[in-house]
Amino acid sequence: MKSMNEHFMKLREGLYFLKGEHNGRFPYSNGLLIEGEKRVLVDSGFGLPLRQKILTSGGADVIINTHYHFDHTYGNRYFPKAELWAHPIDALAIEEREVFDLFTGFGKIGEIPGKDAFPEGMEQRPVARKIRDGEVLDFGVLKLQVLHTPGHTPGHISLFEPDTGILFAGDIDLSSFGPWYGNAMSDIEDFEASIERIIRLKPNVLVTSHADVVTDGIERRLREYGAKIGERDEGILRFLGSGKTMEELLGARLIFRQHPEPEKLYRFFEQVMLEKHLQRLLRQGKIAIKEEHKLKACLAVKA
Ligand SMILES: [Zn+2]
Ligand SMILES: [Zn+2]
Repeated sequence: MKSMNEHFMKLREGLYFLKGEHNGRFPYSNGLLIEGEKRVLVDSGFGLPLRQKILTSGGADVIINTHYHFDHTYGNRYFPKAELWAHPIDALAIEEREVFDLFTGFGKIGEIPGKDAFPEGMEQRPVARKIRDGEVLDFGVLKLQVLHTPGHTPGHISLFEPDTGILFAGDIDLSSFGPWYGNAMSDIEDFEASIERIIRLKPNVLVTSHADVVTDGIERRLREYGAKIGERDEGILRFLGSGKTMEELLGARLIFRQHPEPEKLYRFFEQVMLEKHLQRLLRQGKIAIKEEHKLKACLAVKA
């Protein structure tokens, strides 16, 4: 792999890794550039310096959005002539504010994360092409296989380049926080299945939206990342003991150790992720609702 400069890294012929500002951390994200028959961007959240470089060197014909989150889609607006491609499910939340509110759950709380970074709000541009699991996108210089990898969002996709085994896994991002499923339509079990699917693919190079390019220990890194979900289950079970109310559970900040401003948004993420764990632990029979508490429902580890 050759580094053209700090922002462009050649992954193979016709394929470049775009390193987002702030090391690709939210409200920015990393992306890909494909220089083939068409000029294609994968996500558009890399920030201003790279955007200017891409715009002055010919812009983009197509933007593939891995999912509907603003840190991946907000830059779409600066490429008004580009066609948007996305999975049909997340396309709905790219195209319509009401669906975005429904998918995220933000409609209820009237806040979006990092809103200062997205001053113009949602673009609501139509998605020209819906891309589905198993589809092979042929760009001449290379082909990318679409993998539907839901969990983080319901229509989250990853892209696999089979010749060299390069995988772009979007927000299956190997962050130290672990998998993030804090939206109303996020799904814990889909997320686990998507991580497993990516492990089985045995990629040689793993590129994600918020971390550096990984070539060593990919399976181990993915397993450690996925194991955070089970660690959260264990933390919840330890804290519940013989009984805690939902209020006590939320106050303990078991998932997000800190709740920065806007606090109600982080409290919302805490509650959404916590509830997904509690629902699963109830289904698995590992916890029970203690009925003797008349005023406040109370959850406890099942004896
Ligand atoms: Zn995301
Ligand atoms: Zn992201």
